[in-house]
Amino acid sequence: MNPKLSDRVNNMATSATLAMAAKARELRAEGRDIIGLSLGEPDFTVPEFVKDAAIQAVKDDYHAYTPVDGYADLKQAIITKFKRDNNLDYTPAQIVVSTGAKQSIANLAQVLLNPGDEVLLPAPYWVSYSDIGKVAGGVAIAVPTSIDTDFKITPETLEAAITPKTKMMIYSSPCNPSGSVYSKEELRALADVLVKYPDIIVVSDEIYEHINFTGQHASMAQFDDMYDRTVTVNGVSKAFAMTGWRIGYIGGPEYIARACNKMQGQVTSGANCIAQRATIAALENPPSKIQYMVDAFKNRRKLVLDLLADIPGIKTNEPEGAFYVFPDVSYYFGKTIQGVTIENASDFALLLLDKANVATVTGEAFGSPNCIRISYAASEEDITEALRRIKEALS
Ligand code: PMP
Ligand code: GLU
Repeated sequence: MNPKLSDRVNNMATSATLAMAAKARELRAEGRDIIGLSLGEPDFTVPEFVKDAAIQAVKDDYHAYTPVDGYADLKQAIITKFKRDNNLDYTPAQIVVSTGAKQSIANLAQVLLNPGDEVLLPAPYWVSYSDIGKVAGGVAIAVPTSIDTDFKITPETLEAAITPKTKMMIYSSPCNPSGSVYSKEELRALADVLVKYPDIIVVSDEIYEHINFTGQHASMAQFDDMYDRTVTVNGVSKAFAMTGWRIGYIGGPEYIARACNKMQGQVTSGANCIAQRATIAALENPPSKIQYMVDAFKNRRKLVLDLLADIPGIKTNEPEGAFYVFPDVSYYFGKTIQGVTIENASDFALLLLDKANVATVTGEAFGSPNCIRISYAASEEDITEALRRIKEALS
């Protein structure tokens, strides 16, 4: 707490995913052999056709501010992608390109929330949703789930969390951190509750859309009675390994898109021009172009689950997408390992860092205090060695 800083930032949590990645980097610089399974970041390189488009954009002298909400031809590529992959119809006025999906979500919180508005977050939720909402004056309300129901909310748990103050629900499917994927039927059942509360806006974060081992991605906006109150968020960070290029986008009701455009016009003036040109090349390609990454993630999921099954006390389910497993480690709470008493998931994650040199993220950051998140966006060699070290540290 620094009294010279605003209450806004003093009351905000540091991003636990980025903090753990920074900590791992720091320890590595000190000479520690840390294996990082904390950051959700594909370890692949950017596909050549995307790199070529970026190089061409530099050579073609793209250099100036872009339209605040994105180049017109990029918006067209996004519209084509939404139709091709999700059967969603949007017009250019409904699309806003931002500096990563993180900014897309921050824009939405800023333009939709008033102080005290409640934001429903099916837990476990992506770490930044709660603080993005809080900074905008919102109140994060976790909707609980458990590993026994694959970390998915049900119509009953959703309805029980709704109050007259509920303004928004944000969820990701495939989910970061649980890897859970909502089927069309499951989303329809949730929609049947939501249609009774027309003031609630749904933010459907579909950034892991292509990293889905069920082969079936479902969007909330596909339902006619949800279309006008759903904002679909997506981006190129995960599917095209373009995390550092910082491009995300939304499709949603025009009045919301216009407000996001206004907001980012005062905050960033729009996303990077070269990355926008490259994103056109990325999105013009069908998902089959990145199937090799999805296949690799699927193999790694099996590897990580097989190795975890061999460690006593760690309970897993089978995630259906993204590149995370979210094991329940509560068996270890109250136990003393190598002289350290484990009270909670944060202690457990710290133990793994200190005694096994493996960086993971505590589930507390995601609203699920019995779990830790392991990202398997890492090489098979690193995954195997990391799990060997974890097993050894715990035995
Ligand atoms: N949503 C989810 C669920 C994520 O895991 C991430 C990861 N960074 C983001 C949004 C933000 O992605 P980016 O800002 O890199 O587009
Ligand atoms: N989304 C990734 C994660 O959850 C990247 C880090 C971040 O943006 O917070 O690890």
